[in-house]
Amino acid sequence: MSHAHHHDHDHDTKPSWLVGDNQRKADEIAHHFSKIMEVLELDLTDPHLKDTPERVGRMYLEIFRGLQADADPKITVFPNEEKYSNMVVVSNIDYFSVCSHHMIPFFGQAHVAYIPSEKIIGLSKIARIVDYFARRPQLQERLTEQIVDFMDDKLKPKGTIAVLEGRHMCMEMRGIEKVGAATSTSAIRGCFEEQRVRDEFFELIRK
Ligand SMILES: [Zn+2]
Repeated sequence: MSHAHHHDHDHDTKPSWLVGDNQRKADEIAHHFSKIMEVLELDLTDPHLKDTPERVGRMYLEIFRGLQADADPKITVFPNEEKYSNMVVVSNIDYFSVCSHHMIPFFGQAHVAYIPSEKIIGLSKIARIVDYFARRPQLQERLTEQIVDFMDDKLKPKGTIAVLEGRHMCMEMRGIEKVGAATSTSAIRGCFEEQRVRDEFFELIRK
């Protein structure tokens, strides 16, 4: 008896969101993915491949959850009553995304900060914002910009910054980039344009 079934438990119970339009999309992806498998001359009767099109259909909806209209993070903004005006930094946020060009993963850590003006948000919400924009076919550069645009739009802060480090499987698996090499991107708004403010941020995320 094999104990290597840890990865196929997910197709027994149907997730609650897999209804209506989501079910239709998952079925359609499964249909087309089975065609790709046929082109690759894979044996679709193999026990480990026969349900793969359905699994891929469901998985695409999960990892691309950010494409769905109701998926945007519900951010409650609070008035900055204490007039807190120091930098708020959330570092080492793990994210997982998929490269728009090759449809395979890139992943890494995001470091996000803002300096409040009139509004503040719960710290856990910053990780949700990163996750929302990561869950769609993406470019690391665009993901980084979308995070700061969202922060800027919701909070109207004095400034905001996002720095992302990412490992791209489309480069590493094909041997284009050295394995383990990280790509860094950053986006800044407002007072983070100032060297002194940026220096403080980098000092804080190094800790
Ligand atoms: Zn790529």
